[in-house]
Amino acid sequence: MINISIDYEFDWGGRVKTAKAIEHVTLPLLECLERAGAKGTFFVSAETVAATTPMLRSIADAGHEIASHGFHHDLRYDTLSRGELEEEIRSSKETLEDALGVNVVGFRTPQFRKNRYTEEVLASMGFVYDSSSVNTSLKGRYEHRQHEYGLLPEIPVSTIYGRFPAGIKWINLLGAKFDPDEIRVIYVHPFDLLSMTETVQSYVKGISPVVLAFYLARFGSPLGTIEHVAQGSQTLASIVAERAIG
Ligand SMILES: [Zn+2]
Repeated sequence: MINISIDYEFDWGGRVKTAKAIEHVTLPLLECLERAGAKGTFFVSAETVAATTPMLRSIADAGHEIASHGFHHDLRYDTLSRGELEEEIRSSKETLEDALGVNVVGFRTPQFRKNRYTEEVLASMGFVYDSSSVNTSLKGRYEHRQHEYGLLPEIPVSTIYGRFPAGIKWINLLGAKFDPDEIRVIYVHPFDLLSMTETVQSYVKGISPVVLAFYLARFGSPLGTIEHVAQGSQTLASIVAERAIG
């Protein structure tokens, strides 16, 4: 089973409170997913909703899943108190459901910073799965399956060579060499899909010319890569529902 998931957030991982990348890429991305016959899961940072409601409607109307990526993306979710975490998750779910008339049942914590209370809070609010971890041997915030209590299914993001999260940039750099996971979960950010010029402008500071040249040589067409790797993608909500029945 395959899922393409999109962490739908403000620019540069929510660090800049503009929706430039979202505005540039939503339509081409939807067309790309349609060509691939793919249904994806959009983990939406609810602070973007006011600025992006029409785009989110077209996403939901095309049959993709709207899931929660919290409310404020730049908070350290792993250090929030239980009460603070509840507020972030509740407000994100309510904002998305009120704006779009959908039922939000999935969650991915921002920056894979999973809190020890995440599962309890999700289970108490009617979520049916969590996708807040990465199946990786890397240390740090990607370290997989932190605080897993088995209260609801955890569906981690897949990896390449056992280490690198299956984001579109790693796939372009290293090739689509996925580890065999029961469910292959690939993830994308809107800013991964910006044009080459915008990417160069943002990366050119603080990166060696050799690394940059290598990166650009492999960067290729991110939408072309998605069209290739997203074939057969189903939403995580439908995968979870299918597994519960089977
Ligand atoms: Zn994010």
